[in-house]
Amino acid sequence: MFGYGQSHFTWNGTLRELEGSCPSCITERGRPRMTASSSSSSGLEVLLSTLQNAGDVESTLNILNVLDELLSAGTDRRIHYMISKGGSEALLTALVNTGRSFSPNYTLLLPLLHLLAKVGHRDLRIGVKAEDAGAALLILNLLRHNVEHARRAAACLWVIQVFSSSVSTANLIGANHGLDDIYRLIPQYTTKHLHAIKAAIDAFAALLCTKANVCSVVSKGYVSGLLRLYEDWHGKGTQHVAVGICHSLLRCLHKVTHSTAGRQAFVSQGGIRLLYGTTQTCLLSKGLESLVEPSVQLMRKCLPKTPLPLTSDRSAYTFHVPGRPHAVADMDAELAANSEESDDEEAEDNKEADFDDDLETDLNKLRIRPDPDRPKELLPQYSRLCPELSHDFQELGLSSEPEESSTSSSSDEETVLLSGLRCCSSKRDVGRSAASNDSSPSDPETDPEGHAPAAAQLEACDFHSHSSILSTSPSFRTKVREARDEAPVGQREEDYDIDEEEIADESHHRTMIDRLLERHGACIPHHEPKLYRAAAAKTNSIPGFSILAFPDFWGHLPPPGHEPMALRKPNIQRQKVFEDAQRFLTTDGIINQVVFDLEDSSLQCPSDSLRFFSKFECGNLRKAVQVRRYEYDLILNADANSSQHTQWFYFEVSNMVADVPYRFNVINCEKSNSQFNYGMQPVLYSVREALEGRPHWVRTGTEICYFRNHFCPARGRRRTTFYTLTFTISFKHNEDVCFLAYHYPYTYSALKAHLKVLQKSVDPAKVFYQQQVLCGTLAGNPCPVVNITACPASRGWKDMHQLRNRPCIVLTGRVHPGESNASWVMKGTLEFLCSSDPVAQSLREAFVFKLIPMLNPDGVVNGTNRCDLNGEDLNRQWCKPDPVLSPTIYHTKGLLYYLNSIGRTPLVFCDYHGHSRKKNVFLYGCSVKETLWQSGSAVNTVGLKEDPGYRTIPKTLDRLAPAFSFNSCNYLVEKSRSATARVVVWREMGVLRSYTMESTHNGCDQGIYKGLQTGTRELQEMGVKFCHSLLSVIKDVKTLYSQRLISHVDLDHNGLDHKSHNCFEDDEPPCVEEIEYSSDCPALKSADLDSDVNGNTASADEDDENDDGGCRGAKHRRGSIGQSQQLSARGRLFPHLVRQASAEMLGEKRTARNGVSVNGQIMS
Ligand SMILES: [Zn+2]
Repeated sequence: MFGYGQSHFTWNGTLRELEGSCPSCITERGRPRMTASSSSSSGLEVLLSTLQNAGDVESTLNILNVLDELLSAGTDRRIHYMISKGGSEALLTALVNTGRSFSPNYTLLLPLLHLLAKVGHRDLRIGVKAEDAGAALLILNLLRHNVEHARRAAACLWVIQVFSSSVSTANLIGANHGLDDIYRLIPQYTTKHLHAIKAAIDAFAALLCTKANVCSVVSKGYVSGLLRLYEDWHGKGTQHVAVGICHSLLRCLHKVTHSTAGRQAFVSQGGIRLLYGTTQTCLLSKGLESLVEPSVQLMRKCLPKTPLPLTSDRSAYTFHVPGRPHAVADMDAELAANSEESDDEEAEDNKEADFDDDLETDLNKLRIRPDPDRPKELLPQYSRLCPELSHDFQELGLSSEPEESSTSSSSDEETVLLSGLRCCSSKRDVGRSAASNDSSPSDPETDPEGHAPAAAQLEACDFHSHSSILSTSPSFRTKVREARDEAPVGQREEDYDIDEEEIADESHHRTMIDRLLERHGACIPHHEPKLYRAAAAKTNSIPGFSILAFPDFWGHLPPPGHEPMALRKPNIQRQKVFEDAQRFLTTDGIINQVVFDLEDSSLQCPSDSLRFFSKFECGNLRKAVQVRRYEYDLILNADANSSQHTQWFYFEVSNMVADVPYRFNVINCEKSNSQFNYGMQPVLYSVREALEGRPHWVRTGTEICYFRNHFCPARGRRRTTFYTLTFTISFKHNEDVCFLAYHYPYTYSALKAHLKVLQKSVDPAKVFYQQQVLCGTLAGNPCPVVNITACPASRGWKDMHQLRNRPCIVLTGRVHPGESNASWVMKGTLEFLCSSDPVAQSLREAFVFKLIPMLNPDGVVNGTNRCDLNGEDLNRQWCKPDPVLSPTIYHTKGLLYYLNSIGRTPLVFCDYHGHSRKKNVFLYGCSVKETLWQSGSAVNTVGLKEDPGYRTIPKTLDRLAPAFSFNSCNYLVEKSRSATARVVVWREMGVLRSYTMESTHNGCDQGIYKGLQTGTRELQEMGVKFCHSLLSVIKDVKTLYSQRLISHVDLDHNGLDHKSHNCFEDDEPPCVEEIEYSSDCPALKSADLDSDVNGNTASADEDDENDDGGCRGAKHRRGSIGQSQQLSARGRLFPHLVRQASAEMLGEKRTARNGVSVNGQIMS
């Protein structure tokens, strides 16, 4: 072998070293030419310049051979080094010099082309360079002259393939009929020249990287031809190379179907049926298995776009926004009319922004606080939200009776309401409607929204009465109906079917519920069903909900124990896509009947179909279509006043048959990936199970997968991509009433009821607990704010002084309604802070907690996923929140400004969220330095001072909280998030420790919960641990707290110091089956060009140019380069090319027109 060590060889060696290391490669004749070059050049540069100087055949051949030897050993780094030294240009020049002659010397040309293919394959700019050198059309011409020579044609085709990496070069070749010529080279099944045929198909596929070429191919009807070729090759060829050809054909089809016209042609030419059929064969033959995945992806991609069966993409729930015209036009349809375009996915790919571009690198924006968004005269009104500062604690010392400390804020919190919140009226009076929260301070009894909410007029809180479980089996009747006489029955459409017998049974039902609650109620801590019902009756919703979902009423927790993540069934997506393709190919067994429509309650459906219902708090299901006997497509309702953001779901299903696998497809999900692909399951609640004493949400469902589908919006927004979440459920009982949800629901009414329970639970002698109303929402729901701290030990000056100087900690949550897990974490925090735990007591003594557990009550109530009733993401409104449209954000920010203005800037701010695409729990914080480092900004950070305290809490959590992952945290400030709570509170209020806490919807991949799905207990525990971690921010822990306490929460600052990661996006490993189909299927990714090129010497093809063989070649082999061939273990190009040399030089057989023979195919 060669003298240089393969591992540390560098190209920087001198020619002398090169010669010394590879003496046998350099001929006597070659040596003088090379040494003539500048002695300062490296050996490589000498070789390259010699190559371009068009020397005699033999020395040029030797140089090519040396280069090939060098590049073939070792890694790609050598090739990249050669490219950086002008290697591509040198080869192109040599190609042009050699190829231009009337009678090109193929002895030289073939190795040159092979080397060019290998090098060009790694040179991203090879296409442009080829065009500049005039090689692009030259190679096409060479191809045309050599269609009769399989080996030469193959070499030309590989070079065309690599040149096509440039769009303009590919277009140039396409415009010069290159596609047509190459297409003609692809024959029906044959056993000869397989490598050349494959090269032709690969070159054809490569040329299809441009829109123009795709259009041209489609318009010429080649799609049909490609399909027929695939069918033919697939049916006959099972050997390795033939399978490779099938792969390449599929790649062509994938590229062609990037365009709408291509997909249409594919479908109209029977592509789906063909692939469906061929794939079934593939499944039976091990050798063909590799064709299955690309075929399935192609089918999925080409299933004809199907609009969702909706009359409008707008949400079924419309809310009249104050100050806006009442009727909202279907703006999407208008938009679509204006943006009618070809929907090539290529264009879509461009939208993926470079992550680092999003980082804020403007030091001013990172460091300097902007002006406040409002005049400071508006701030004093928020003093009422600091009751701990004005409370006189008169009860202290007078009596130990637990009474007044917390009752001032009691059940009539709505009455305290807003009295001070007049700020916005000065500016916004004009646009106000009755729905805004403009109650007069002189009239605190007024309902905050100034009009009686629809739901409150009903006494509310029936269960969904057409549920069979409630009407067929008296023993299961669960109607909870109080004050029935007062209920305007006619207002409740669901009540029409109540008969006399039921009414007679009523008292029986009520007592039964009571008995059940007595028997089982204790298993639900901090929950009182009757309190919940009362709270729900006061909740305002757009549709005026009058039905309670049973799980919210009673028993909304998972069962004890842990639920492991679901194992993904192998090839599950493949199986689902087959089923979907069947729907397209046949009508057998296809029902396609709408069985539920949120907007049409009179809908009749077959007696044996499932029944659906979603008109209750947090409910979200717009339509259900029975596809097959046991399969349903489900369409989610868009966020109110919007036509998007579908992901969250929660609905009731009934009339099932036990132990039958029902397939559910949620067909209009929007997120590009989901934890449903990584072990997450939806949650199910069975009323029958509950009535038997197991009132639990359980993770359930099999055959779960999440993938991009073929549906599109009903009208307009053609670009929108939808994803299917599919899962299968076998229900345990016949005729049950079940509920299915994206995650454990947590309603706004649940929060209200929970706060009431908490209030009753605290010891008012110890805990100062005061619940207030931050403001009313657009729909007139009060947004609660809770103050928690420790009562002072006495009314003495010292104790009161300590109380009034406790730092504030502000925690918010559930700004995104679909993130119900955030509410469970918040529930844990609330319960802990109210508890008698010694750590909680210490925290209360150290801090004043202000919690706004639900920043978006309206969204939560109406089952939206992301937005408020205005159709806006409230967590993008923090820069300048509108007092009327985003009142909760406006007033939360007002409170923070106020705290700031009185010198009580919060020590910690944290906004609780849920993450749908990641595991574990983690924090996002803000750091100037880390942002600048990560962005690679030129700003010098050496002199920049930054308190590293933002890392204390995450580091502590990493030790304390099993679900927490420090490695998933980051502290980067992105432009796209500049209007989020975290960034605004950090920048504008100067809160160093300002965080977003993201909790997984799925589970953990580390720690003691690894492999388990998180339940509400783990989420609540996270809320507790977050509180524990707050001890770490107290400067001198030891002086404030006993050693016992410190060891209790194990505060240790050692160890961890991880670097920030870029991890805002999905960081799961790629899903085993592609979720997207727009990019090329990875199963089809770059066939190994090198091995193809090397394979051009393979014996299978040798016969085609046997007639060229001459004795002179044999001499060469034994002569100058024969030795290197012997030295080289792998198959070499040169010996046998040299063998052909003489005949090549004797001249070309040219047919009249460019060498393309009559039917044009190689070997015909
Ligand atoms: Zn969120």
